[in-house]
Amino acid sequence: MKLGQTAAATDPGRKRRQNEDAFVLRPPLFAIADGMGGARAGEIASALAAGALNEANTAVGGEERVKQLVQEANRRVHERASNDPSTSGMGTTMTVAVVEPNGEITFGHVGDSRAYVLRDDHLEQLTDDHSLVAELVRRGELSERDAEVHPQRSVITRALGTDPDVDVDAFTIRPQAGDVYLICSDGLSDMVASTEIEEVMRVHRADLEQAARALVRAANRGGGDDNITAVLFEIVEGGPQPSEPDERTREYAMGPLDEEDTLHPEDGVAPPPPAQVPDAVDTMIVPAEEIDAAAVHAAPEPPQAGLGRRLLALLVIIALIAVIVVLVWWGLAR
Ligand code: MG
Repeated sequence: MKLGQTAAATDPGRKRRQNEDAFVLRPPLFAIADGMGGARAGEIASALAAGALNEANTAVGGEERVKQLVQEANRRVHERASNDPSTSGMGTTMTVAVVEPNGEITFGHVGDSRAYVLRDDHLEQLTDDHSLVAELVRRGELSERDAEVHPQRSVITRALGTDPDVDVDAFTIRPQAGDVYLICSDGLSDMVASTEIEEVMRVHRADLEQAARALVRAANRGGGDDNITAVLFEIVEGGPQPSEPDERTREYAMGPLDEEDTLHPEDGVAPPPPAQVPDAVDTMIVPAEEIDAAAVHAAPEPPQAGLGRRLLALLVIIALIAVIVVLVWWGLAR
């Protein structure tokens, strides 16, 4: 098996002027960094992290090597944040994939950017978000459905740049010929349901450049609340992978997404109803150990609870009126 097509698309989305996402398309190395911080600090954080990967001599070497790469990226972001007050507190997510010479794919992951695989027309999420809502879902304190619309869904529990060391999730996948891998920022996964991501990838399976652009369009149709980045690569039947890296970074990889706002019939997807479009939320970092149960109470009520709540309010009002009537009657009777 070997690498086939590779593609990437990035877009600031509809609500933000800057694009604080960065990506690395340097086969066999692929990565996403979604920066956060005031002013332009988020852009600096993600660019520093992507730069560390672009400068690495080699990415292959399994999980230990991938962890080293992410640690080096973390060191650079943290050093800059510590020495440059204008970037204090900045951070970035990072999700990395490396296609190893033995054909396996190694992933490294920090934050809420995601890796997915489309295998046999079925989309599977490979990474676990390091986010407040994902942590609450894992603890059984929040349902997955409520997590999707939770007001604090952009709070992440792990990022590059906030500490001298970072805990990196690393894992290895044995691919099948025909697999398509997607690495994306939350500007895609928050705006487009996974069933729709699956559908767009299936429809554009033959042309990954088209697929990347179609994913960006879908996120913009869904609201475009955040910067959107999608990196795609496929694994195909064949001999060893090409050794010549086809190096590209965000700065010069993309032409204008002139048709991003157009609904394309070949996308085969309808825009989501307005009720499914979440609000724009700025990303924050809160360590997992500082998450408390109080956060759960901020979870929105499911719509069915609305009737129950109105009934309860009505009962309380009736009970209050009854108490007042009894008190007045008792007062008059004395
Ligand atoms: Mg984002």
